[in-house]
Amino acid sequence: MQTAGILHADLDAFYAAVAVKENPALAGKPMAVGAGVVLSCTYEARAYGVRGGMPVREARTLCPHLIVVDGTFGAYTQYSKAVFAIFGSYTPVVERLSIDEAFMDVTGSIHLFGTPADIGRAIRSDVKRETGLAVSVGATPRKFLSKIASQVAKPDGLIVVNPGEELEFLHPLPVSYLWGVGPVTKRRLNDLGIHTIGDIAATPQDAMTSMLGSAHATHLYALAHNLDPRPVETRRKAKSLSAQSAMRAKIRTLDELVPVLKRLTDRVASRMRVKNLSARTVTIKVRFGDLSSITRSTTMPASTDATGAIVVVATKMLERVLTEFPNHETTLLSVAASGIAAGEPTQLAFGVDDDDVSGGSPRELEYEALDQSVDALRKRFGADVITHGSDLLSGRTKNTDGLSDIMTND
Ligand SMILES: [Mg+2]
Repeated sequence: MQTAGILHADLDAFYAAVAVKENPALAGKPMAVGAGVVLSCTYEARAYGVRGGMPVREARTLCPHLIVVDGTFGAYTQYSKAVFAIFGSYTPVVERLSIDEAFMDVTGSIHLFGTPADIGRAIRSDVKRETGLAVSVGATPRKFLSKIASQVAKPDGLIVVNPGEELEFLHPLPVSYLWGVGPVTKRRLNDLGIHTIGDIAATPQDAMTSMLGSAHATHLYALAHNLDPRPVETRRKAKSLSAQSAMRAKIRTLDELVPVLKRLTDRVASRMRVKNLSARTVTIKVRFGDLSSITRSTTMPASTDATGAIVVVATKMLERVLTEFPNHETTLLSVAASGIAAGEPTQLAFGVDDDDVSGGSPRELEYEALDQSVDALRKRFGADVITHGSDLLSGRTKNTDGLSDIMTND
């Protein structure tokens, strides 16, 4: 069944927004990031006609009190990583287009997180809360349409176009929203009385071909008729493995959550070991009773498939989240491993301190030995006979604690 499950998410004025985050005195002011050419500018500058790609001199003519800041500083990568971690927490099918823009296919996540509209809203609020940045989202059945929808949604908006509503949304828009219509084509079309995408659709294809040439005309004609079969493409398949638990009982403390975290981690790590994969990045997602959620990621210096090593990293992040949000009821917890590579994990011992992951702990070797014995028992007696490590010590066994598990991203 077709849904509006292709999302295009694009941060609003990314470089300018990060500059404002790092220097709040710039908030609300016409400001451009760039040297020579405007890389990005605030919406206050846009009101004067300033645009990305414009020479700074021209921008100053349009807006004499424009503040111009050098774009070479800035924690752009950190903000981008945080945003992409949020995207990845809703679907493994993320196609990165640039530092601040991605397509996501969320059709496989609807049973977990709700309709594409719900997911679009959740992503927007997660990004706003966790990074302070605004991201506009288009959710439609097709890539090109979602990209257009996110542009129409700006600033700081969400537009959902459900199946059957595509042409109604598309046809009133100016031709410049189509990929492949730059200023020159736009002028040529406008001169011929073609102003909207609907005008293109209503023009005979022969006439379009004689105006623009065959390839260009065919492309625009297809888009104007809502034809775009391209799927969302990730660079690799199975980029991440994850497991999550929805909690029926209201759970607040780290002590209550750690056994769940261990069980989820064990499911992810044992699947990695079965498939001979190892991962470098561990991501946890905690959803609270008010439906808000927090995502945290740690990238380790070496890849691992050891349950215990991932548990240590994930527990540190969980502890920080619970400290940051005291007295919140946790309703869902998920653990994901990404940066997955085939083959043997790097045989590097590492431990975790308060701030990052650093070398030098013999624990990794213990974890390996434990995992091997757990895996061997499972192989002989089946997956359900044994739970991991301290779950056994604490007397907990699988699925007796009021939890339901959903495995994702197979
Ligand atoms: Mg952007």
